[in-house]
Amino acid sequence: MSFRPTLDFLLYDWLDAESLNRRSRFADHSRETFDAVLDTCERIAREKYAPANRIVDTQEPRFDGERVILPQATHDAHAAFAASGMLSAAQDYEIGGMQLPYTVQAAANSFFAMASVSIGSNLLTSGNANLLMVHGTPMQQEVFAKNEFSGRWAGTMCLSEPQAGSSLSDVATRAVPDGNGFDADPLGPRYRLTGNKMWISSGDHELTENIVHIVLAKIPDAEGKLVPGTRGISLFIVPKRMVDTTGALTGERNDVALAGLNHKLGWRGTTNTLLNFGEGRFPVNGKSGAVGYLVGQPGKGLHCMFHMMNEARIGIGMAASMLGMAGYEASLAYARQRPQGRPVGPAGKDAAKPQVRIIEHADVRRMLLAQKSYCEGALALQLYCARLVDEQKTGPAGPGGAADDARLLLEVLTPIAKSWPSEWCLEANSLAIQVLGGYGYTRDFPVEQYWRDNRLNMIHEGTHGIQAADLLGRKVLMEDGRGLRLLADRIADTARRAGAVPSLADDARALVDATARVQSATVAAWSTGDPGAALANAVPYMQAFGHTVLAWIWLDLAHRSLQGDAARADSATVGRLGAASYFFRYELPKIGAWLRVVETREPTCAELPEEAF
Ligand SMILES: Cc1cc2nc3c(=O)[nH]c(=O)nc-3n(C[C@H](O)[C@H](O)[C@H](O)COP(=O)(O)OP(=O)(O)OC[C@H]3O[C@@H](n4cnc5c(N)ncnc54)[C@H](O)[C@@H]3O)c2cc1C
Repeated sequence: MSFRPTLDFLLYDWLDAESLNRRSRFADHSRETFDAVLDTCERIAREKYAPANRIVDTQEPRFDGERVILPQATHDAHAAFAASGMLSAAQDYEIGGMQLPYTVQAAANSFFAMASVSIGSNLLTSGNANLLMVHGTPMQQEVFAKNEFSGRWAGTMCLSEPQAGSSLSDVATRAVPDGNGFDADPLGPRYRLTGNKMWISSGDHELTENIVHIVLAKIPDAEGKLVPGTRGISLFIVPKRMVDTTGALTGERNDVALAGLNHKLGWRGTTNTLLNFGEGRFPVNGKSGAVGYLVGQPGKGLHCMFHMMNEARIGIGMAASMLGMAGYEASLAYARQRPQGRPVGPAGKDAAKPQVRIIEHADVRRMLLAQKSYCEGALALQLYCARLVDEQKTGPAGPGGAADDARLLLEVLTPIAKSWPSEWCLEANSLAIQVLGGYGYTRDFPVEQYWRDNRLNMIHEGTHGIQAADLLGRKVLMEDGRGLRLLADRIADTARRAGAVPSLADDARALVDATARVQSATVAAWSTGDPGAALANAVPYMQAFGHTVLAWIWLDLAHRSLQGDAARADSATVGRLGAASYFFRYELPKIGAWLRVVETREPTCAELPEEAF
C-alpha cells in the first residue's frame, strides 16, 4: 500500500479538508490546488530528499575552522524546498504566501519528513519568520521575516543553554542597551548580547547568505542583576551578518561565533551547534557583544516564543510519525519477500517444502500491525490537530465558539501530539528493525537510521517528562478542566456514532470506559492537592491519556471507513479496520496498569532514597 492514498483518505474523507474552501481566507483553493501542492512536495521529496537520506547520515557536518561544510545534496534540497514556496505557504498573498490551510501544509510536509527528516531545518525557518509576523515590527517583518520566507536567509531558535535546558527560567544570556539612542534603531531597540547557547539546530552553515537567530536573553535590572524566573526573559533578533534597513548585508559579521558542532546519534543532516554570543571574536563597530534587536516587549520573550509552540510541536509529532511510517514501509516490503521458516503445525514439518515469506508468520504480522496502528494513528492525530489550528484561526469567533473550542482542545492535545508519536513511532522503528532480524541491525538497510533519527523527538521541544508534567499539571486543569471536558465530549460523540454500528459497538464501549477512567484518575491524582504526589506519575498518566486519544482517533477512522462514500470494499479499508481492531485489543488494555499508579499516587519512584539507587 503506498502512502499517498492513506494521506488522501485522512485529508479528504476523514477531515473534509475541502470544506475549508468555504472560509474566505481559503476561498481561492480547491481540491485541485491542494492536490497540486501535495504532488509538488511528493515529487521534491522523492527526487531531492530521499536519495540523500543516507548521504546526510554518513557525511556529517564538518567545521574547517572558517565554515561549516555540508554535502552538496543538502544545498540542492534546500534550494528545491525554498523554490517550492512552502516556507511561506500559510502566509497572506500580500507577502508572497499561498494562504494555504495549515492542515494541507502539514500534510505536504509529511513527505519531507518521511524522505529525509534531517536534511533541512525549514520548519525552524518558517517558525521563526511566522513568530516575527505576529510579534515583530513592520520593519522587522520586512527585513527579516520576508527574507526567511523567500529562502534567502535561514532561521534558528536559540533557547537552550548548557545549564538551562528544561528549566528556561535559568537562562543566563544577558542583553544590555547598546549605548545612547539604542531605542531609536529602525530595526528595533538595539542591545548587546553575551552568553552561550547550546544545542542550536542549524546554528551555522553556508546554505544561505545569512542566519536569523531568535534568542532568549535577560535584560539586567538597574543594579545589573538578572531577574530570576521566566519574567525576566526577552526575545531578540540576532543576525549572523549585519544588515541594513533594506535587507542588504553591510559586510560586517555580528559577534556570534561557532564554538563547536555536536556529534549526534541521528538527525545528522542538520548541524547542531554551541554558539558563543558576544565573546569579542567578531567585534561590531569596534565593540564586543552580539547586536540584537528586541522583539515585542521586554520580559515577554517566553510568551512570544510560546506563540509558536503548538505548531512547532505538531511539526515534531509529524516528524516522529513519518519516521515511523518510513520504517513500516521498509519492513513491510522486506517481510513480503524474505523467505524464512515454515508454517506452525504439521504442514511445516516437511523440510523439503519451500520456506514461507516471513509476512506469513503471525508474530511478524503482529509487529507490522503494531507499526501500522501507531504510525497511521499518529499521522491522523497530527492532521486532526492541524485542522484545529485552522479552526482556531478561521472558525467562528467568540467565547464557546468553534475557534475558542479549537484553541482549548489544542492546549490539551498538543502534549499528546508531540509526545505520543515520539514514544510509539520510535517503538515502531524498533519493531521495524526486529522484522528485518540481523539485517535490520546493519547499516545496509535504512531502518536503524530511522530509529536513530527518531530517538531525538522525546528529547527536544520539551522532553517527555516535561510534556507529561505540562499535561497533568496544567493542561487538564486549565479553565476549570474545560479542555478535558471538551475532549471527553468529542470522544463521547464518536463513541455514540460508532456504537450504532454492530461491528464497532464493543470498541465504542471500551473507549467510553477508558475515557471515564482517565477522568477519574485525573481527579484521584490531584485528590490530596500535593503536586509532588500528583506529578510523580505524570508520564504513565500521559501514556494512558495518549493511548485513549489514539483509540478515539482509530474508532473515528474505522467508523468513517464504513460510512457513505468512504465505505469501499478495498484492501485499504480492510487494513484500516484491522489496525483499529489491533489497537483496541492489544494497546488500549495497557492503560489499566498505567492509571493504577496514577490513581494511587504510587510513591515507589519518588520516595526511594537516593543512596538506594
Ligand atoms: C539534536 C538536538 C537539537 C536541539 N535543537 C534545539 C534548538 O534548535 N534550539 C534550542 O533552544 N534547543 C534545542 N535543543 C535542546 C533541547 O530542547 C534540550 O536538550 C531539552 O530541552 C532538554 O534539556 P537538557 O538537554 O538540558 O536536559 P535536562 O533539562 O537536563 O533534562 C535531563 C532529564 O531530566 C529530566 N528533567 C529535567 N527537569 C525536570 C523536571 N523539572 N521534572 C522532571 N524531569 C525533569 C528531563 O525530562 C530529562 O529526562 C536540541 C537538543 C538536541 C539534542
